[in-house]
Amino acid sequence: MQSPNTAASSFSTTEFSNRLFVYEVVGLRQNVETDKGNYPIRSSGSVFITVPYNRMNQEMRRITRLGGTIVSIQPFTGTTTGVTGKATAIAEVTATTSETKPQPMTHPKDTAEIPVNLYKPNKPFIGKCIENYELVAEGGIGTVRHVTFDLSGGNMRYVEGQSIGIVPPGVDAKGKPQKLRLYSIASTRHGDKEDNTTVSLCVRQLEYKHPETGETVYGVCSTHLCKMEVGADVKITGPVGKEMLLPDDENATVIMMATGTGIAPFRAYLWRMFKEQHEGYKFKGFAWLIFGIPKTANILYKEDLEKLQEEFGDHFRLTYAISREQQNSEGGRMYIQHRVAEHAEELWNLIQKDNTHTYICGLKGMEDGIDEALSAQSQKQDIKWSDYQRQMKKAHRWHVETY
Ligand code: FAD
Repeated sequence: MQSPNTAASSFSTTEFSNRLFVYEVVGLRQNVETDKGNYPIRSSGSVFITVPYNRMNQEMRRITRLGGTIVSIQPFTGTTTGVTGKATAIAEVTATTSETKPQPMTHPKDTAEIPVNLYKPNKPFIGKCIENYELVAEGGIGTVRHVTFDLSGGNMRYVEGQSIGIVPPGVDAKGKPQKLRLYSIASTRHGDKEDNTTVSLCVRQLEYKHPETGETVYGVCSTHLCKMEVGADVKITGPVGKEMLLPDDENATVIMMATGTGIAPFRAYLWRMFKEQHEGYKFKGFAWLIFGIPKTANILYKEDLEKLQEEFGDHFRLTYAISREQQNSEGGRMYIQHRVAEHAEELWNLIQKDNTHTYICGLKGMEDGIDEALSAQSQKQDIKWSDYQRQMKKAHRWHVETY
């Protein structure tokens, strides 16, 4: 979906700020909102909606919510029909709602609606921190914060599974401005307030002992975020990433394997599937989260996850691997790969279904143990795991984001 800001970028903002545009929309479901006269102009199945420049984004979201698809955006020419053969089309948009897309095996990557790089490092969006709280309970290891930024006043939007860049203040060791760091988005496209105006992150403060001096070193950007005060400005770039997008198929099986802050995109998925209920996406499939953490106190979003499992037990399964508290079958620490090995037969059976998507997110290197466990299982059917996995990657059914 081309943004109105981009669409109008060849004109000055001031020239456009008082102007009206006409959206041609198809597929609007008949409902209270469409009936009460908000969208009165109809012709041959299309609805023409006149929108002032400064409400274009808001209206776009409303149309999507109502199941509509914008097929063109044109300047208002002064007549009620608005759109004439003479008007210059600003944006031709392809069908994007879940109703018009073929459901099975459709991946959002294949559609035009994934926003990418709306804000670049040389001109970041300036957001405001509106929430910043600790996620690690007492007795846990380290600091992980849930941080939320207000996005209003801009054009930033995103979908589940994408990341944003944060540009920390100051300069690096070479005296150059700090470079951006990427963070997986932990909220749904609607944001934690469900009003399309926020984005949330799940950030671990990097802390390590300097290998030579033994001094404690804190990461630049993660510390900037973890210590950020409510009300502070933050430089945001992006969004980026098409690797971790959620399938449109509401009946999909979604297997998620996370370590630590790798939970971030899965929080977004699970909130979309179960916690938030929006028109155009009603999850009816099966989601399984296998979550690796060192201690119970480190289970990020524990209460929420367990509540979802309680409420949606038929559709959501939650498995922890708590390395410092649970033992694997050989008496060692329980890591995520041990849980995968324990459930390998079940996982392998699920993975072979055409509409199963598997996601891995978190610590670099976590894939190796998972591959090993699944390889042992597929071998029982004389299937070479690496070949099978390659095919799944091609079909957008195997997704990895580790850092
Ligand atoms: P920096 O100040 O940049 O320090 C990092 C550097 O410290 C390293 O490059 C290395 O040189 C050094 N270092 C680190 N550890 C050690 C060690 N043990 N011993 C010696 N030297 C060391 N992070 C999150 O918290 N949450 C997320 O959701 C998240 N999502 C990400 C998504 C993607 C796609 C990517 C690529 C990364 C993601 N990250 C996430 C990581 C994040 O981008 C930063 O890398 C992280 O926060 C550290 O940045 P920093 O500025 O705090 O550290």
